[in-house]
Amino acid sequence: MPQRYGPATAGEVLALIREGASTRSEIGRTTGLSRTAVAARIDGLMRTGLVTEGETAPSAGGRPAGTLRFRAEGGVVLAAAIGRSRSQLAVCNLAGEVLAADEEDRTPGAAPEDLMPQVVERLAALMRQARVREGAVRAVGLSIPGSADFAAGVSLDAPTLPGWNGVPLAPWFAPLTDAPVFVDNDANVMAAAERDGHLRHHRNLLLLKASTGLGLGIVVDGRLVRGGWGAVGELGHVRVAGAEGLACRCGSFGCLETVAAGWALVQQLSGGGREVAHVRELVAHALDGDAAARSLLRESGRRVGEALAVVVTLLNPEAVVVGGDMAAAYDIYVAGLRETLHAGALPVVTRDLELLPSTHGATSGLVGCAAMALDEVLSVRAVDELVVASR
Ligand SMILES: [Zn+2]
Repeated sequence: MPQRYGPATAGEVLALIREGASTRSEIGRTTGLSRTAVAARIDGLMRTGLVTEGETAPSAGGRPAGTLRFRAEGGVVLAAAIGRSRSQLAVCNLAGEVLAADEEDRTPGAAPEDLMPQVVERLAALMRQARVREGAVRAVGLSIPGSADFAAGVSLDAPTLPGWNGVPLAPWFAPLTDAPVFVDNDANVMAAAERDGHLRHHRNLLLLKASTGLGLGIVVDGRLVRGGWGAVGELGHVRVAGAEGLACRCGSFGCLETVAAGWALVQQLSGGGREVAHVRELVAHALDGDAAARSLLRESGRRVGEALAVVVTLLNPEAVVVGGDMAAAYDIYVAGLRETLHAGALPVVTRDLELLPSTHGATSGLVGCAAMALDEVLSVRAVDELVVASR
């Protein structure tokens, strides 16, 4: 527990239980709270449905000590990872475990008024499938390929999704739930998905989303960096040498994406007379041994590594985690990435730098949307408020 002043609150006691504390005496020892005070905190948490009595622990003589456990079944969060051409949806329990999920490819570029009602309808169907009642929803976590006003649930700037700039997304969920709706950038939620993965070992890491687009989730000292107005980590749109005059899908010219993003690689391979519609197909060809596809992926890794060398030198992360569709060909992609990253960054920052595949692979976005929403609704402050409101 972080150093604190004043007695531990119910929210902090819940955090201990989620970390594995299972008896009242253990909580008393860790927090310094009296037996009465621990009992009051536990009563409050039980009223919220977040904690229950667990198995009876074996006791050396005397009364058996009652144990406590976090009720992962005490509610659900809805997760929606919205992409340009695909959206993934899930209903997750409060431990972030997927209870029901589906995904759908569609024609790229659907407007929010066309897509959002479908998203809400499909989530409602998944809730029925998982036998979840509407009142059980504690939060909705959404990701978009762009920047977002996180707590307001508004898409701010999504250059690749026409019609999505400045759109409030939370109101679409009103027919389904009045739970809070959080919206974040896709690379940010993939970083949040590492909460039960690489973030257990690394407090500072970068999450590279190498997919149709390129993005970076930045975690410093265990906290996700969201920047001044949610536009953090736009690695794909830094200007790079050798891309001068190339038109980017953001409307500018000379961006890293024009030479290294999945969409640009697909154009290049298609320009060579090949039938490829999506970067996932290009990756499949590379894994089948296709020399042109392999070479494009390795070169993308190299170009991204050059830009990432600057970030790594500035932030000194312990790890760079690689996710997104191109990470399915992890060895090919990372060979290029490692080469230029090590050539371009200061040796002291690359010597022990780890390059790692994302923990949840193709479901990182979904797991991350749930994790990001859970971080909020199970935060110490949110739980304290819930306990007060339950009186
Ligand atoms: Zn751009």
